[in-house]
Amino acid sequence: MLDTLDQLFEQQKEKALQMRSAPIAARKKNLKVLLRWLDENKQRIRDAVYQDLHKPETDIDISEIFPISNEIKHALRHLNAWTRPKAVSPGLTYLGTKSHIQYEPKGRCLIIAPWNFPFQLLCSPLVSCLAAGNTAILKPSEHTPHTAALIEDMIKELFDPSFVTVVQGGIPETQALLKLPFDHIFFTGSTPVGKIVMEAAAKNLSSVTLELGGKSPVIIDQTANLEDAAKKIVWGKFTNNGQTCIAPDYVFVAEGRESAFIATLKKHMERMFDSESKGFQNSSEYSRIVHQNHTQKQIDMMQEAQSKGAQVVAGGSYDIKERFLEPTLMTSIPEDCQLWKEEIFGPIIPIKTYSDISEVIDHINENDKPLSLYLFSKDKKLQKKITKETSAGTMVINDVVLQYAHPNLPFGGVNHSGIGKSHGYYGFMEFTNQKSVLRQRVGLTNASLFYPPFTSFKKKL
Ligand code: NAD
Repeated sequence: MLDTLDQLFEQQKEKALQMRSAPIAARKKNLKVLLRWLDENKQRIRDAVYQDLHKPETDIDISEIFPISNEIKHALRHLNAWTRPKAVSPGLTYLGTKSHIQYEPKGRCLIIAPWNFPFQLLCSPLVSCLAAGNTAILKPSEHTPHTAALIEDMIKELFDPSFVTVVQGGIPETQALLKLPFDHIFFTGSTPVGKIVMEAAAKNLSSVTLELGGKSPVIIDQTANLEDAAKKIVWGKFTNNGQTCIAPDYVFVAEGRESAFIATLKKHMERMFDSESKGFQNSSEYSRIVHQNHTQKQIDMMQEAQSKGAQVVAGGSYDIKERFLEPTLMTSIPEDCQLWKEEIFGPIIPIKTYSDISEVIDHINENDKPLSLYLFSKDKKLQKKITKETSAGTMVINDVVLQYAHPNLPFGGVNHSGIGKSHGYYGFMEFTNQKSVLRQRVGLTNASLFYPPFTSFKKKL
């Protein structure tokens, strides 16, 4: 594939030019064929993702299929409105002119996906890309090969390669793609690789959307309902084995509530992920870590903290060959441990107590801005304070993870956790150029006041 990349890219140029003036109905048709394929091939998607990540079938429906069909239906409902040229007022200065914003496709786009939701995270930006009228080259993750192969089959069944195509591979293939002068690059993945993508994009001045990761904190204050908070955190963290970009990464709990909170977490860990009491390793509800290296990384982080005095208060058992680590809770983790330094992206929750909320705010503000910030509190004043005094890509009060699929909220990070937004209208806009069109309607314009010669009359203005 790599030796034909230039040729493929050239073919997409012609198609992108055609699509610029194609009717909106053509974009809708593309979205509809994708929607039909999803409906007719659910079992193929479930089988592929299960082979890669051992995810339960219902979970695959909820997190890999439903968000894409939802995204397509939302785009189909709103595409006419999104693409309608928007007239703007001339104001006093521009009297005599008529202006509007034209929403045009950017052109040739590249979409690079990670492995953690391998189907959804490639198809969701594809929906925005097609809605905006672009061509696309798709690069799925090499770590989820069954899903990557299915995506390739799907795209071959639905579209001509001059319009949408898949390039398989890992780092060398992605780096070869990144050399091409795409009009837009949409990358979902880790922060360090996001920097590589942005650097490569800068060489061609391609615009970028970077959906990255980071550490998403949870705060549990004195007023929070522990039962409710624990249940939601257990779901948000241990679904997909903690391998979710917006999974709670670590928890700050108000002093005095730590033991009750841990006991409630343990209860829900068992109820949700070991409901048949066969142990987490034999549970059909508990998925796997993506590969052995990532499992080893989780264990290294846990053991480093233990060697420095941290406590494992629940879980901790593992089986590297099986890519398995129990849902694990840890306390008393010293500041210099890796668990505080990088995104965990696995089934470990570090828990830390605080006595004054200012400690928590300072901690959040001294570190990279999170992708998500979660607060459990009934105190409206505190809700406002945290919302105003911290920065994050997204924030949820008294729940977790739900912000992701909200059709009318922009999703994305800020600085280290991401650049640009996705989903619905915001995803559409990432793949769209807002072209300003100004039409002069009269011969003599106010602008002639700015032309030389600068007479004394003009100087007085
Ligand atoms: P990753 O950055 O390692 O890989 C993402 C993609 O980049 C893959 O397709 C991979 O082939 C490619 N890649 C990897 N290294 C590269 C390199 N050196 N040069 C060029 N391309 C390279 O990420 P991952 O491990 O697949 O996914 C996990 C990360 O993604 C986590 O940090 C997670 O938080 C983040 N994530 C973010 C979102 C979001 O929406 N913000 C969603 C899911 C995952």
